[in-house]
This record gives sequence, structure tokens and C-alpha cells, in this order.
Amino acid sequence: LQTETPQPIAISKNSSLAVHTDPAKRAKAAIVVLARNTDLDGVVRSMQRMEARFNKRFQYPYVFLNEVTFDEDFRAATSEVTQARTMYGLIPQDQWSLPDWLSEAEFQQAKDRMRDAGVLYADKSSYHYMCRFYSGFFHLHPLLSEFDYYWRMEPDVHYYCDLDYDPFVFMEERGIQYGFVITVLELKSTIPTLWNTTRAFMAENPAILPQENLLDFVTADAGSDYNLCHFWSNFEIGNLNFLRSKQYAAYFKHLDQANGFFMERWGDAPVHSLAAAMFLNKSQVHHFSDIGYRHNSFTHCPARMRTNCACDAMQSVQFHTPSFGICHKRWSDFME
Ligand code: GDP
Ligand code: MN
Repeated sequence: LQTETPQPIAISKNSSLAVHTDPAKRAKAAIVVLARNTDLDGVVRSMQRMEARFNKRFQYPYVFLNEVTFDEDFRAATSEVTQARTMYGLIPQDQWSLPDWLSEAEFQQAKDRMRDAGVLYADKSSYHYMCRFYSGFFHLHPLLSEFDYYWRMEPDVHYYCDLDYDPFVFMEERGIQYGFVITVLELKSTIPTLWNTTRAFMAENPAILPQENLLDFVTADAGSDYNLCHFWSNFEIGNLNFLRSKQYAAYFKHLDQANGFFMERWGDAPVHSLAAAMFLNKSQVHHFSDIGYRHNSFTHCPARMRTNCACDAMQSVQFHTPSFGICHKRWSDFME
């Protein structure tokens, strides 16, 4: 990695230094957290950072989702971190299990095969359920029905900069459907047939594909193969109504029937990204380049610090791990 030449930090054209939203305005939005009871400490750390950098001023509610009931400890500790509303939801059982048409034995065989092939997380059943849930169902949860926008948060993430405007209102005022901070390469071994399955969907449904789209961002130059670039979905700020749309539902159904959430280990990140690439255009996807963020080994830190940031721009993924950060360059080239 040290032999690679660092690329200049990508700053997308529409991330101007002066972002203004009406300070009195609020969107119908919530911070969404899928978590286990055992994730409590990491969730509290993420919330403290979210509150300090953004939410103590904006007071958006939190929606926690889990396939088992949240215990009293989890409810008490999370509701103490914020003055905003906190809500705790149970995931319907059929959204955290195999579909009717797939047997446990088939799933077990696939997991054994993937484990032997060294596919990351593939022998962990819950990881498959988690990816399918974030791909197909979270946006349909009754606790989210009152909201139009969501900000996805995970345990133990960092927010490094004060956010002095409302990203939900920012998106609403501009018609933005999907926002990201980090884009990296997916591991091909987790999604061997996702692209061909997606191509079959496009071929079967030409009428629902808009003329203007982002497919050039995710395809190789010839436009034929998936280049594995995806928006890193542990951070997302998005419009729930995009995921609730007919075309997104049709795409998810097509993927689900192809069984790739179980026979392979399709992640919600490439699924959301390919959906955005098919259905959205340049003005509808936004790089929040002014939000400092870290999850595990990847960081995004703004190059120009408009707001008080506690991070080092050189730690951004495109400097730190250029081979993975190549998608940032592709995004900024694409947006030019
Ligand atoms: P990674 O970021 O890809 O390593 O995956 P994580 O383990 O962080 O999981 C992604 C998100 O799903 C996090 O918010 C986790 O708390 C949540 N999650 C993962 N597995 C489970 C599970 O089995 N049950 C619940 N309720 N949440 C889970
Ligand atoms: Mn995580």
C-alpha cells in the first residue's frame, strides 16, 4: 500500500463551503440503529458522538430495531444519552429468517462452501439476515412510517466534525435521495452473481429505468462489468420513500428470489448502491464530504475544515488505503 500514490482528496462539486438550511425547519426524520442488546456500550458511544456533533441541537428521534426485544438496560441507557425521543421496535420474524422457498439444509451447504472459500462473515447466519433486512425491510418498519428520511448509525462509529446545518432539510430542499461519506470496493467473493442478477432485472424491466442514472459510476469503462464501487452503507442518510418505491421493491424482490442473500453473502451496501445507480441521477445522490466519520478501519475526514473537526484529512480512506479509496476518485471524476 505504501507504494501507491495518494490521490487528491475528492471534493464533489456540490459540496460548497457555505451550506445553509432554514434553522427553524425540521424534516420528518429519524436516526435508525439496528442493534443487539449486547451492542449497548458501542451504541451509547455512537450516540454520544452523534449528540455532541449534531443532534443535541437538532433533536431528531432515534429508532432502534432488533429481532429480539430490547431489554431494560438497553432502553434505560440509550434514552439517557439524548433528550430526543427514543423508540424500540421488534423486527417481524419473517424478515429475520429464511424465505419459505429455501431450506435450512440448503443454507447450511452454502455456508459450508463459503466458509471453505474464505468469504468474509459468510458462515454467520445472522450476518445474512442483517444484510437482507437492511436491503429489503427496515424502511417498511411501522416505527418508521411517520418519517421520510433516515440516518443510519452503527455501534462504535465516530463523528468528527460539528454539523451546523440539517442534512435532512438539506436533502429535502434539493431533492436528494441518498447521501454517503465513504465509497470503497466490495469484495468480489461476497457477490459473485449480484451483477448478473441485476443485469437480468434491468433487461426485464426497461420501462422503470430512468434515462439519466449513475450506472457509469459502478461499471467498468465498457459499461459491462460491475467495478465493485459501492457506498459504504454503515453510514447513510437517505430518503425512506426511495426505498419504499415500487421500483426499489421490485428490485429487492428480484434479488431475494435469486437467493443471493443466502447462497452468497450479498451486502446491503452493494444492493443500495446498485439501486441508486439504476434509479437515481447525479443530482439525487450527495457526497457529504463535510461530515467526518469513522467506522472500523475506514475514515473520511474533510479536507477543508469549515467546521470544527477532530480528525486528520490524511487519514481519509483515499490516502490511507488508496487501493480501496479508488472509488472516491471515480466518484469525483464522474461528477465533473
Ligand atoms: P460490519 O460493520 O459489516 O462489521 O457489521 P456489524 O456487525 O457492525 O453489523 C451491522 C449492523 O447490524 C450494526 O448496527 C449491528 O449492531 C447490527 N447487527 C449485526 N448483527 C446483528 C444481529 O444479529 N442482530 C441485531 N439486532 N443487529 C445486528
Ligand atoms: Mn459495523
